[in-house]
Amino acid sequence: MKHTTEIIALLLCIALLGACAPDAATDEKIDLIVEGKSIVTMDEHDTIIENGAVAVDDGVIIAIGTHAEIHEQYSAVETLGGDNRVVMPGLVNGHSHAAMTLLRGIADDLELMDWLINYIFPAEVEFVDAEFVRIGTELACWEMIRGGTTTFVDMYYYPDVIADVVDRCGMRAMISATIIDQRSPDAEGADDSLQKGSAYIKRWQGRNSRITPIFGPHANFSLTADQLRATREAATALGAPISIHVAESPFEIQNSIDTYGMTSIEFFESIGFFDGPTIAAHVVWPTEAEIAILAERNVGVIHNPTSNMKIASGIAPITDLLKAGVHVGLGTDGAASNNDLDMWEEMRLASFLQKVEQMDPKVLPAGTVLRMATIGGATAIGLGNDIGSLEVGKRADLIQVAFDDVHHVPTYNVVSHLVYVNDEQDVVSVIVDGKLLMREREMLTIDTKRITAEATAIAAKIQGALEKRNR
Ligand SMILES: [Zn+2]
Repeated sequence: MKHTTEIIALLLCIALLGACAPDAATDEKIDLIVEGKSIVTMDEHDTIIENGAVAVDDGVIIAIGTHAEIHEQYSAVETLGGDNRVVMPGLVNGHSHAAMTLLRGIADDLELMDWLINYIFPAEVEFVDAEFVRIGTELACWEMIRGGTTTFVDMYYYPDVIADVVDRCGMRAMISATIIDQRSPDAEGADDSLQKGSAYIKRWQGRNSRITPIFGPHANFSLTADQLRATREAATALGAPISIHVAESPFEIQNSIDTYGMTSIEFFESIGFFDGPTIAAHVVWPTEAEIAILAERNVGVIHNPTSNMKIASGIAPITDLLKAGVHVGLGTDGAASNNDLDMWEEMRLASFLQKVEQMDPKVLPAGTVLRMATIGGATAIGLGNDIGSLEVGKRADLIQVAFDDVHHVPTYNVVSHLVYVNDEQDVVSVIVDGKLLMREREMLTIDTKRITAEATAIAAKIQGALEKRNR
């Protein structure tokens, strides 16, 4: 008798457990399910799941599997259908000057130093204020979200304003306080910018998990060795990473040799500049020995092919950097030297540029470039454990790309299409930290009409001032 009671109790338990198990799809709903004809995970095995889905709850990826597996286990408050859709990690733009969208096309077809010293720096001193940065950054965030970028590493002025915009629009960003030894829009010189930058970093550390405040010393020709050392010391004291332009142009290399008797990266190494997390933008002209330094010191490199081509800075030795084990990501640089923020174009150009430079079509294949725009970039900027691939436990930064345009017909290989065919306009939905920023091409966190009007108004003012000056 006792035995029968036990069996009944056991059966009851099983029945109850069954009711509470996650496969009871009617019970507690998770936040979001994102479906896709292909789920391009960018995990270490380059796993692609056909007819799959990603389950998201509380900002985190909680499951990835086939459509059937995910729907058996979960039901969600919102589901994004996956017909003709590819789901992949959001793109990581490792180097930008977001607010420079407002200087898009202001001075084209010039040499880097001429462009910088005679056009960009004066225009910035004249026009850039907090309002300019707010509008320019918001315009940039709209463009980046529209194109599937979910994270960017920015370097510009008024970092508090940039952080406010990012806070509101829902993207993820590492935002630099620019340190430069000249009068800039938000500081009088290196000491002033370092002091203000430190205060900004203290204000934003721990405030929003999507925003990492960092230092952005401009370059080794726009700061002295002492100022660069002081910036690294401040960064170490605050536990903040650094983003900086490195070995971008022959000018920088020559200047470094003339001033310090060594090339740019050797100089940085000689002053202990790589003692903490460093994101090096450009790195067009490293020597073999310097590539070894970057690998050993775990310096993340951000390749900006469009900007490097447009300003004719040179061709960065990306295949050599990758071979040496350097983590390499991609960036757009500012819209004044690009002139857009299209990471799909960066992928394509990165690949083609290496192929033609080495006269070898096998170098930098599509899969490698796609890694650079996702997990490779995330690792290069120090966020590889949190974002960059679709894996359980990672933050839910992902995008849905429509594969229903005429240029997707036919599709034999999804990765090939993502790199060699896709445009920004193919991105339909964008999710950061589990929140939808764009749904079926509708911007949800930025008022497109307002920002267009504000950007147009400020551009008219700049245009008027430029015409007056040129008269
Ligand atoms: Zn730059």
